Amino acid sequence: MTHHATCQHGRYRLTCEDYDELWTHAGGCCELCGTPAAKTPDGKLFIDHAQQYGFFAVRGLLCSKCNSLMGYIDRGEKDDRRAIGYLANAWFVRVLHARHAENVAVRRRLRRPDAELPERPAGSEEKTT
Ligand SMILES: [Zn+2]
Ligand SMILES: [Zn+2]
Repeated sequence: MTHHATCQHGRYRLTCEDYDELWTHAGGCCELCGTPAAKTPDGKLFIDHAQQYGFFAVRGLLCSKCNSLMGYIDRGEKDDRRAIGYLANAWFVRVLHARHAENVAVRRRLRRPDAELPERPAGSEEKTT
């Protein structure tokens, strides 16, 4: 794929698989204005990240215009209603949510044995009546 020509996503700690997923999620278009990558001013999409968190906090793929617009929005200098949904659904937020859900599921599984076994008094097997 052409967007792996230089694999700049490595700077954002994205693997090629991560980047492909990001690309698929964006549909190959700027996630804010919807312009297809080839039709953007630079003919490509840029990896947008939350500067206050660092390079790992990748939010999505944007054209250069929207990328600089997000800079203004981050600094509170501009407002754009499209940015609300974009930020709420940012890549790193989705990744963290998925990881958190996984952690909760693991903890529930770990907790269950000692939560149920010792506390159940003898003869209180499930009564379905
Ligand atoms: Zn790559
Ligand atoms: Zn755009």
